[in-house]
Amino acid sequence: MHSFRYAEGSLKCEGVDLESVAAEVGTPAYVYSAETIRNNYRRLDTALTPLGDRMICYAMKANGNLSVLNLLAKEGAGFDIVSGGELFRVLKAGGRADRCTFAGVGKTVEEIDYALRQGTYSFNVESEQELERINEVAGKAGLIAPIAIRVNPDVDAPTHKYISTGKSKNKFGIGLDRAAEVYARAASLPNLKIRGLQTHIGSQILKAPPFAEAVRKLTPLVLELKALYGLEFFSVGGGVGIVYRGALASGDAAWWKGGGEEATERITPEEYASEVIEPLKALGLRILFEPGRFIVGNAGVLLTSVLYRKETPTKKFVVVDAGMNDLIRPALYEGHHEIEPLRQPKDSSLEKVDVVGPVCESGDFFAQDREVATLAPGDRIALMSAGAYGFVMSSTYNARPFLPEVLVEGDKATVVRARQTWEDLIRGEKVPGEAA
Ligand SMILES: *Cc1c(COP(=O)(O)O)cnc(C)c1O
Repeated sequence: MHSFRYAEGSLKCEGVDLESVAAEVGTPAYVYSAETIRNNYRRLDTALTPLGDRMICYAMKANGNLSVLNLLAKEGAGFDIVSGGELFRVLKAGGRADRCTFAGVGKTVEEIDYALRQGTYSFNVESEQELERINEVAGKAGLIAPIAIRVNPDVDAPTHKYISTGKSKNKFGIGLDRAAEVYARAASLPNLKIRGLQTHIGSQILKAPPFAEAVRKLTPLVLELKALYGLEFFSVGGGVGIVYRGALASGDAAWWKGGGEEATERITPEEYASEVIEPLKALGLRILFEPGRFIVGNAGVLLTSVLYRKETPTKKFVVVDAGMNDLIRPALYEGHHEIEPLRQPKDSSLEKVDVVGPVCESGDFFAQDREVATLAPGDRIALMSAGAYGFVMSSTYNARPFLPEVLVEGDKATVVRARQTWEDLIRGEKVPGEAA
């Protein structure tokens, strides 16, 4: 569900006219709806109430703007972090380390030390060498590191190959067959405290059964480890998919059935909850969830302006001022973003075009052979459902400064990150022999 809709002929985010935001901050620009983020969090939390002891650790790699973190911290969310920099952001935004889980296959000594001293709730460990490393760092710091091991349940969740993580061929986690052994090793290390078990099967997963299947597959192991080491939590990870197709039309859609980004049929948080609650309850542990995309995906749009039209004998191109450096999902994993004009077109005629950016790469497109409203230079459009893995994955490729981010709350729009300047782009660089 989200808070973007047409009213009086223009696209609104909550009570704010997006055309006026574009006029004020310029394009391209990201805009997020605070109401949508809050509602997604609350609806999920409410659906999971029957579990009792639970913690939603928002996977902040999806969108790490301080204002987004701050509003989720106020809702009581914890955070799933994947770097020291992300923990730094959480703390700056008013979040608590003792509600953070630290994931990722490549934690450095510096990151482990920092997260340990801040009091991180759990290090989610992805390899045996990492276990030894955390033990060493904790020993030097004179602290005990709370850990969980990420166990790979080897379930096949249908999604794009780049974002599937739960199969044994992926780089993530430790195989189910070796997990008990690795826990035994963890128990023998003096500076570790076994706190939980974690799993995560992938991203943009559009059906609930694979989540329940992963839990059921891990249940015997979890119960065995609970008896041996007194586990405190089980984390079912994140990965719940959202609506990308027809995102505007399906205003209250967030969870759906079907395959890939093609699908339009949805399941609700309530349906998801009803699928996973039973196997999770049977564990008798605190349950952690790590949703990223579900919380913020439909809560953001990327505003961009049409610069030019261009025709070849076989194609019509619409060139816009946003590029793949600003939103890489289409180029990276065939991500789909609906295109909606900020001024609702008077006639409903559509035209088949490629919508492309200015970056010098053929992969720099937002749509190919897509039927969209007829667009002219100067028209502004919104690339919908760009709130997750949008800004956070952007770069300054082609010396294009980072975009501004705007947070809307009710009828108020606040620039929560200023647009980078050209001076910002060269900060910290120098030519040898010249003064910096
Ligand atoms: C990326 C990630 C998530 C969040 O994934 P979404 O698809 O955005 O929900 C959660 N947990 C872990 C360990 C991750 O790597």
